[in-house]
Amino acid sequence: MRISNDYYLIVDLEATCSNIGAVPRHEMEIIEIGAVMQSSLTYEIESEFQAFVRPVRHPILTEFCTELTGITQQDVADAPPLAESLELMKEWTSVFKDWLFCSWGDYDRNQFRQDCEYHSLDYPFSAGHLNLKAEFSRAFGLKKKMAVTDALRHLGLSFEGSHHRGLDDAKNIARIVRRACMGT
Ligand code: AMP
Ligand code: MG
Repeated sequence: MRISNDYYLIVDLEATCSNIGAVPRHEMEIIEIGAVMQSSLTYEIESEFQAFVRPVRHPILTEFCTELTGITQQDVADAPPLAESLELMKEWTSVFKDWLFCSWGDYDRNQFRQDCEYHSLDYPFSAGHLNLKAEFSRAFGLKKKMAVTDALRHLGLSFEGSHHRGLDDAKNIARIVRRACMGT
């Protein structure tokens, strides 16, 4: 899981969803961007980012989505559109020079791609992407890929904060990286 870049840019997205098929995968939209900039030298989190996004394809959150994430209709109704939140994220990342976009699985990268395509926006990352979920399995010789909560448990840790919230998920992924690479 070690990288040659100065920072792991760990991003975790929350999106519109349904448990009864009302929001198909290809119509899901970002509602929250959570991210941390984690030093690959000290494994300290040097900066955090959080932004809500107003969805347009399914603008009313399902009860399931609000229960899963804790994100309310008011949170997204008051939020800027994707273009604006992406600009804020890019401004934040631009303060740090040498980072690698990382996420737990490929979902977050694919969701960025899907939403940017739908809104005719440029994909916000120029560099590559590191799938930390796959890296974790490889590093620990696991046959199966693990959810964040299972990976934490595997390392003797438990989830801190609110699961399925972008920033808290990103912070917990950073704890996995730190423990896996530094042992602390
Ligand atoms: P996560 O980063 O695990 O919180 O998941 C990101 C997004 O995936 C969530 O905001 C939901 O849109 C979707 N998602 C996660 N878990 C579920 C689930 N059990 N059922 C439906 N959608 C889900
Ligand atoms: Mg999440």
